[in-house]
Parts: sequence; C-alpha cells; structure tokens
Amino acid sequence: MSANLDAMYQEIILDHYKHPHNAGLREPFEAEVHHVNPTCGDEVTLRVHLDGSGPDATIADVSYDALGCSISQASVSVLTDLLIGKPVKDAMSVHEEFQSLMQGRGKIEPDEDVLEDGIAFAGVAKFPARVKCALLGWMAWKDATSQVVGAGNAAAEEKA
Ligand code: ZN
Repeated sequence: MSANLDAMYQEIILDHYKHPHNAGLREPFEAEVHHVNPTCGDEVTLRVHLDGSGPDATIADVSYDALGCSISQASVSVLTDLLIGKPVKDAMSVHEEFQSLMQGRGKIEPDEDVLEDGIAFAGVAKFPARVKCALLGWMAWKDATSQVVGAGNAAAEEKA
C-alpha cells in the first residue's frame, strides 16, 4: 500500500471520528445492544429500527453512542452511512464484505462500490489488535438486527 493511500485512509477515518454521522441514540427502535472491546476499551450502545419484518425488512435507522478510539468510532459512523435505508439482506452482504476485508490481514483489495468510506479500514486490517476496534460497531449491529429479525442467527445463539 502506498504512503499516499495510507494517508488518504487515515484522513477518512479521522473525518468520521471528528464528525460522526448519525450519532446519538434515537427512538423508535426494536433492539438495543451494548458491546465492548476490552483490549482497547471501546464501547458502543447501538439501536436498530427496522421497517417491516423478516429478512425483507428495511433498515430505517441505526443510532448509537460510541466511546473509545478513533477507529472504533469512525467505523460505526461509516456503518450507518452504508446500512441505513438498505434491506436487511443487502446490509448483511455489506457486513460480510467489511468483515472479510478486516480479516484479510491487509491482503484483500477493498471494493469501493460496496464499502464506500469503509475502504479506509483496509489499512487497519494489517494490525490484528485494531481489527476488533473496527469490527465492534459492525458486530453490535449484526447482533441487534439478528435479535429483531430472529433468523436463528449463530451470533445470537452463541450469546445465549
Ligand atoms: Zn479501539
């Protein structure tokens, strides 16, 4: 990865951190979760509001209160930009795309058409300790959404 690209990625992350999109907790919501990343001290409380039911439901709102490092906070800001307004099944594909980017150890080329500002976290994927920071909000979103959709999701079962 070139130094220029790294600098551009850092700029995007810093911008979301300083000016978080869709921040704050809002009503109405069907599920609220609280996830922590103890290795870094990041915390997020996240609410989802769906329009409709089941996998065909649309994500009407994702609201959150995030605390912690710039990566964890920027990541949840990017998530809301990407997922609000999407059907749940499309949002799950975006989630998978972001997760595989983060678990790709910096070797996966991000798809800007799918991930938009989320490509900025490609640089973070090289640092295993920071991957959890970037994924915190995304895991919280999936947990909350699975609780509402109730699709017998593996993550929800693990928690139980
Ligand atoms: Zn962190």
